[in-house]
Amino acid sequence: MKIGIPKEIKNNENRVGMTPAGVAEFIRHGHEVMVQHTAGENSGFADEEYEKVGARILPDIQSVYREAEMIIKVKEPIAEEYPLIHQDQLVFTYFHFACDRELTDAMIKSGAVCLAYETVETDNHHLPLLIPMSEVAGRMAIINGAYYLQKTKGGKGKLISGVPGVNRAKVLVLGGGTVGEAAARMATGLGADVWITDISLPRLRQLEMELPINAHTLYSNEHNIRKELSDVDIVVGSVLVPGDKAPHLITRDMLKLMEPGTVLVDVAIDQGGCFETSHPTTHSDPTFMVDGIVHYAVANIPGAVPHTSTIALTNATLKYALALADKGWRKACKEDKALYRGLNIVNGKVVFKAVADVFGLEY
Ligand code: NAD
Repeated sequence: MKIGIPKEIKNNENRVGMTPAGVAEFIRHGHEVMVQHTAGENSGFADEEYEKVGARILPDIQSVYREAEMIIKVKEPIAEEYPLIHQDQLVFTYFHFACDRELTDAMIKSGAVCLAYETVETDNHHLPLLIPMSEVAGRMAIINGAYYLQKTKGGKGKLISGVPGVNRAKVLVLGGGTVGEAAARMATGLGADVWITDISLPRLRQLEMELPINAHTLYSNEHNIRKELSDVDIVVGSVLVPGDKAPHLITRDMLKLMEPGTVLVDVAIDQGGCFETSHPTTHSDPTFMVDGIVHYAVANIPGAVPHTSTIALTNATLKYALALADKGWRKACKEDKALYRGLNIVNGKVVFKAVADVFGLEY
């Protein structure tokens, strides 16, 4: 199969759909891989590294889309990319159709086969192509939270680890899934005292067993959350209610229970955010203040560490992408239910129920 790896053109997106190591696997399986000039540069992968493993470098995005039977990328296509996608082309990337009508209409019109990373789902309900980005975002939530705790950044002026004779910071993590666990691990590793909440008791039991001694589990309800706020330093919002918006676990009136300079990191902002006062921010302007409380709500946190994120993503996508290339999408999706669940739009028809329902489209 002819595989195309275009350069991402969405603002501030520095990841790339495939590493040279991933491309080498495709070549080994007898496929042809075309990589757009400088596609991997911002993730730390030069054209020469792709060439060395057998890829062909194409000069521009148009030629990659024109020649490829399958496109592997990272972000959902943006308007400039819509006309490049053609009938029967297989596009394997994040799409997030349910929050983008324009993209949905454009992909229906293209006649392409859209297989979305975010809905590839195993029988035990794991989302294997979302997990790696959550693992990155959870760790980054603490690095950023600790950074914005500095006085010069609007924070309390507190060092997350403390020093001998001075208290360490207190971190509250709302939602103990992949992001929450990664955040708790990072925060405990830096020496903070961590409280991690969830509504799932089996999950809290597991976290209690696996996390270090400076992490404490707490059942998630408003009473328990309110009690922790008076001396908290960083709050990480990492809840997910599948198929729904994130619940507002911290409302505006709860901000006054916290000390000025407390930092809220709303990782769940891509699902609307779990703090009432959140709105999405960007890497170039990541924070804003409400009632003296710092809010960090960047919607694509992993984009700040594209080298790590690209490798982590490729580690997860590669086996699925290889199956699609080796067998063709029809056979690959027939044999693997997880991949089948990734199909969202096929040759002009929406085949993913939640997307059809959101826009009242035929399914
Ligand atoms: P996950 O499904 O692994 O974990 C979510 C957890 O939230 C589950 O354990 C669930 O039981 C818990 N939960 C649900 N309702 C709760 C409540 N009321 N109180 C406490 N816990 C509750 O999901 P995840 O992979 O950890 O992702 C979390 C969020 O982070 C998602 O919205 C995801 O899209 C987002 N995310 C954002 C970025 C970014 O760059 N901003 C990156 C990765 C993930």
